[in-house]
Amino acid sequence: MALPVPASERFDDERICAVFSHKLTANLAGLGWIGKSCLLITPENGPRVRWTTILTNAPLTPTGKPMKNLCGDCRKCVDICPVKAFTGSNFSEDEDRDVRYDARKCELYLENLEKQGKLPVCGLCIYNCPFGK
Ligand code: SF4
Ligand code: SF4
Repeated sequence: MALPVPASERFDDERICAVFSHKLTANLAGLGWIGKSCLLITPENGPRVRWTTILTNAPLTPTGKPMKNLCGDCRKCVDICPVKAFTGSNFSEDEDRDVRYDARKCELYLENLEKQGKLPVCGLCIYNCPFGK
């Protein structure tokens, strides 16, 4: 049996999150690490990737292991964010996302752009990541 999980489908408006974390799954599968931007960073393309997940009970052999965080001293995503949505903390699986990222700040910023008649897009945290440039 295989169950596809779509990308970017919001499940919880309060927490602003999906029902399932593709980023954490990709991290556990060894495809990248979760950066200070809370995005999954790949060595090849940085955060410029789109994920989907297929849950299956097929008898697959697991490959990979969680990839080491390579953000180091970099703060490019933290410093460029116009609303300072990131705290600069590194990902820790024991901590809630709020320790690193205030998703509401990002959402309000995009909503305000729209109210001003501008396109509600930003992505500076993606643009500024040196990995994959
Ligand atoms: S998309 Fe823009 S506002 Fe939202 S977290 Fe990234 S840099 Fe900040
Ligand atoms: S911009 Fe720097 S700190 Fe942010 S995710 Fe990319 S490598 Fe990590």
